[in-house]
Amino acid sequence: MSAESDSLELIRDEVVRCRACPRLVDWREQVAREKVARFADQEYWGRPVPGWGDPDAAILVLGLAPAAHGGNRTGRIFTGDRSGDFLFASLHRTGFANQPTSVSRDDGLRLQEVYVAAVNRCAPPGNKPTPEERDRCLPYLEREIGALQDLRVVVSLGAFAWDGALRALAALGHAVKPRPRFGHLADAAVGPFTLLGCFHPSQQNTFTGKLTEPMLDEVFDRARELARR
Ligand code: SF4
Repeated sequence: MSAESDSLELIRDEVVRCRACPRLVDWREQVAREKVARFADQEYWGRPVPGWGDPDAAILVLGLAPAAHGGNRTGRIFTGDRSGDFLFASLHRTGFANQPTSVSRDDGLRLQEVYVAAVNRCAPPGNKPTPEERDRCLPYLEREIGALQDLRVVVSLGAFAWDGALRALAALGHAVKPRPRFGHLADAAVGPFTLLGCFHPSQQNTFTGKLTEPMLDEVFDRARELARR
């Protein structure tokens, strides 16, 4: 096992045991107990959801937080919900994933060149972590960025992830002024990395056509181009 994956493993082990945010611990565990009717027969994960993917990734795909009945149920980020369906179908079309679906931790999905994580590792009520909860969780992202030694590009899914990435990179000594603004396909050089913006693949965005399949594919094609420069 390489030093990088060893370190990612350590971070994963710490993340899944974390109970630092009382409000989020209560919420994730309550959701896991109460469930929803369509998943009533399933054992929910109900813990923090760690990052996962290729330890040699050049591209980090960053979301906001696990979905209550997606990642918080399956234990893998963007797995078992509509946002994940949209995201991984695109990663498959663009050659970063071996299959187009992401339904469970043991579904055989493998990522190449890509690592996926979220700013907050616990599902928050209303998909809204507080600033304190965000800041408490950011060190995990900072450590992952440090452990991903081939990392070149951070694809931020939505403005919250864009902001979280900028904060994590600033904590690692890569502050940028003026602060680059989030936009779809906006990019910014941040130290040795390129930050690339993408509308979040939420149902609100995909159902309304704000984010389409070709638009998401274009982001990942662009990320590959930036990573190989
Ligand atoms: S959000 Fe992050 S810091 Fe807070 S309990 Fe979950 S894993 Fe820990």
